[in-house]
Amino acid sequence: MRILVTGGAGFIGSHLIDRLMEQGHDVLCLDNFYTGHKRNIEKWFDNPYFELIRHDITEPIRLEVDQVYHLACPASPIHYQFNPVKTIKTNVLGTLYMLGLAKRVKARFLLASTSEVYGDPDVHPQPEEYRGSVNCTGLRACYDEGKRVAETLAFEYHREHKVDIRVARIFNTYGPRMLKNDGRVVSNFIVQALDKKPLTVYGDGSQTRSFCYVSDLVEGLIGLMNNDYIGPINLGNPGEYSVLELAKIIREMINPDMELVYKALPQDDPRKRQPDITKASTYLGWEPMISLKEGLELTIRDFQQRVS
Ligand code: NAD
Ligand code: UDP
Repeated sequence: MRILVTGGAGFIGSHLIDRLMEQGHDVLCLDNFYTGHKRNIEKWFDNPYFELIRHDITEPIRLEVDQVYHLACPASPIHYQFNPVKTIKTNVLGTLYMLGLAKRVKARFLLASTSEVYGDPDVHPQPEEYRGSVNCTGLRACYDEGKRVAETLAFEYHREHKVDIRVARIFNTYGPRMLKNDGRVVSNFIVQALDKKPLTVYGDGSQTRSFCYVSDLVEGLIGLMNNDYIGPINLGNPGEYSVLELAKIIREMINPDMELVYKALPQDDPRKRQPDITKASTYLGWEPMISLKEGLELTIRDFQQRVS
């Protein structure tokens, strides 16, 4: 199949491309290199079944493909808050153009949505039926509300134009190739511990997250794309940890003498987050295989190779 991956030079997109290339597909990677890098996909440059397109999805583009994995959008708060209006354009205009492309060529379209659609949740763990608690004027809204509109667009293109959609709600994912300056918690703690700098815990560290290793997530995305269930469907690892617990685990694995420093909690930082993955396990037969410890070991090794 000819498969388009938007945001393919980014963290998750490049791991997805690795799997799709290994499966023998013809892959088009589209990216504007805002947070993505050529080095993430350079091993495929000489492969005739791989094509790299430098393009910003806030402008339309015409391509002929069978499937679209739509991942283009910065995922880390520091990057998506750097230019919030651009983040909204990427989620709204960009998703509209990619859905238009899928409609024109009758391609199946998978949206990489997010657990952020649940905002700071009142229901725990979060099932797909939960409608969320999002502050539409807060600092995270450009991303949260952007993704909520992206989901709405996907469902309206499905109802009105019969586009064959899939919607994945991805929970916190980590692994090799995260940027050193990514700003998310796993990469920050690993980089800080390797650099012998104190680990920055925001707030008192009692807020929780559930961390999914990237290879598990990629299997879930491919499983959803090739399944009849359209979603929205949660993809994440239900293992829930407080940020303080995570800091202590990473410190123990890299440098047990490292200090922790407490910094202000960012505005609207969700207090807890854990996926209910009943639907993913029922409809896709999917559940994560990699434990936090194993995943962190692989991620730390990747950062060590890059830091040194
Ligand atoms: P990332 O920032 O590494 O990747 C995003 C990619 O999209 C980058 O390569 C970037 O250059 C590209 N991009 C951004 N804006 C673009 C534009 N206007 N035009 C073309 N390309 C553009 O992030 P990631 O962690 O790989 O996330 C990928 C997707 O998964 C995103 O849609 C994100 O919202 C979603 N997601 C990720 C997580 C996570 O924990 N990593 C959680 C929930 C959802
Ligand atoms: N966080 C932290 N220290 C850091 C970076 C993040 O304590 O150096 C916290 C952050 O406040 C949040 C959690 O870790 O409570 C996860 O943050 P991240 O940016 O990774 O993802 P998100 O908040 O989007 O889930």
